[in-house]
Amino acid sequence: MATTQAATPAWPVRRLALWALLLAVALTLAGLAGRWAGDNATAAARLAGAQRLDSYAVSLENLLSKYDFLPGTLELNKDVIALLQRPGDEALRGEVNAYLEQLKQRSGATTIYIVNLEGVTQAASNWRLPESFVGDYVAFRPYVRDALRGIPGGFYGVGTTSGEPGYFFAHGIYHQGRMLGVATVKVNIEKLEQSWERGAGEVMLADARGVVFLSSVPEWKYRTLVPLTAAARRELETSRQYFSHPLTPLDMRELRQLDDGTSIVSLPSGLEAPTLSQTLALPSRQWRFVYLSDLSAARTSALSVFLFALLLQALLFMLVVYARQRRRVHAELEIKVAERTASLREMTQHLSEENLVRRVAEEKLRRAQSELVQAGKMAVLGQMAAGITHELNQPLTALRTMSDNAQVLIERGRMDDAKGNLATISQLVARMGALTGQLRQFARKADASVSAVPVAAAITSALFLVERRVEQERVQFRMTMREQQVLALCDSNRLEQVLVNLFTNALDAMADSVERHLTVTVERKAQQALITVADTGPGIPEQVRSHLFEPFFTTKPQGKGLGLGLAISEQIVREFGGELRAEAVAVGACFVIALPLAQQETT
Ligand code: ADP
Repeated sequence: MATTQAATPAWPVRRLALWALLLAVALTLAGLAGRWAGDNATAAARLAGAQRLDSYAVSLENLLSKYDFLPGTLELNKDVIALLQRPGDEALRGEVNAYLEQLKQRSGATTIYIVNLEGVTQAASNWRLPESFVGDYVAFRPYVRDALRGIPGGFYGVGTTSGEPGYFFAHGIYHQGRMLGVATVKVNIEKLEQSWERGAGEVMLADARGVVFLSSVPEWKYRTLVPLTAAARRELETSRQYFSHPLTPLDMRELRQLDDGTSIVSLPSGLEAPTLSQTLALPSRQWRFVYLSDLSAARTSALSVFLFALLLQALLFMLVVYARQRRRVHAELEIKVAERTASLREMTQHLSEENLVRRVAEEKLRRAQSELVQAGKMAVLGQMAAGITHELNQPLTALRTMSDNAQVLIERGRMDDAKGNLATISQLVARMGALTGQLRQFARKADASVSAVPVAAAITSALFLVERRVEQERVQFRMTMREQQVLALCDSNRLEQVLVNLFTNALDAMADSVERHLTVTVERKAQQALITVADTGPGIPEQVRSHLFEPFFTTKPQGKGLGLGLAISEQIVREFGGELRAEAVAVGACFVIALPLAQQETT
């Protein structure tokens, strides 16, 4: 039981595997196409991002480089030098304050101020304002501290007094080779952000520690790209570079690292959409730009291309299947048509050949039959020649004697006797005429014409031809008519021929018999007229019976029989739709002629 269950046919598994393979190939191809589209879109985004980063860096550099030299030029002003030399001179302070105020306006800087070596602001462009720097202690500020140490520098930070962010430039003020103080210029670079906001992606500017101080997204400002180390946090608290901002890290997770500082990240806002992150370092100020571009469009395009490729393949597959199906149906149809045409042609040829062969055979058969019948007749005639000669000779002799006698009787005046003789002569002539008529009729090669033939009459006519032998050989002839009048559908001539044949055979067979009875019976049975011819001869041995109706089969000595009689007879009877057969009987032989009954007869 289990074995038959396990014996699943092999083809569905193979088919399934083929389908799975096809599907896998289609998915792989579509995946490749989708990936190619995604990569293309990412590459385009990367190129656009790189261009933007370059342009942002250039505009930033342009802005800052304008102020790089401004602090250095302040030592060229005599009043500035004089104020640093005489810090108590209030009139001079007023002069310098006015000068710085004017310079600020012309240069577009936010604030310009002068600090002495103790780190106290001596003059400032914002001297008029409540948040004036004049008198402030700023030595803790890294750029001031650096400048006081002789290191001119730039620094981005949030102003401790104003709380406003800006870029601070600081430069030592020297007179005759000696440092007197520090000149400081603060520039607002936040306006850059406004131009960034118009960009396609988001941009951040971060310092060396990763603190974002400028961004197109306001919430990202004063957040860090990476968590700050404890030391960095301490340093920033001391310098108060970013005032009191908490500097928490941005939640920007790297999903995938690409080459040259590019990576795929999840957005700091917590959105899961893939984002391309590109970085551009500004080594001169130890800053770096981070540009984030949305890759969801690239993802969409990859997905669309993937789906499109799948669809296209499905379409192609369907087309191929359709074309194959069509081709197969077409081929099958052609094969069928070809087969049908061939068989039709063969049939036609066969038929016409068969027709021709049949026609020729029929023609041959007809001729052969006709010739056989004729030959049979001739044979019978030949056999009967002796009898016929005798039959004619006897009346002829009688005729001569009687006519001689009549002559003598007339001469003697015995007219009545002469008359009687002449009447007998006339009878004899009539008998001879009848005999020759029968022979002529028999010998005629007539085409069979079917009509209702009275069987009894045919038997009488046939008997007439063999009467002489019957008498001579002392054969007892008996005819039994079971019905009044039996009409058979045939040709009388032919039927007589058949009967003569049967009679002759019976007589031949009984030549050596002690008892010689020839019995003819006529009856109707199952729409047939049955004529039975029985004799009391030796009968038909088994080995002869099977050859009886074969042409030229004879057991008679040479010159006595041709072996055609029964063959012809059988043909004739069959021609009329009847049958000639030899029936097994206890004594002698028995032949039965079965012929269709004529219509009139049945009524
Ligand atoms: P044929 O008379 O020339 O021999 P037939 O065809 O008439 O040819 O007869 C064939 C043979 O059938 C005969 O030679 C004979 O052996 C056998 N035959 C025919 N009729 C009889 C019969 N009544 N009794 C015995 N044998 C017969």
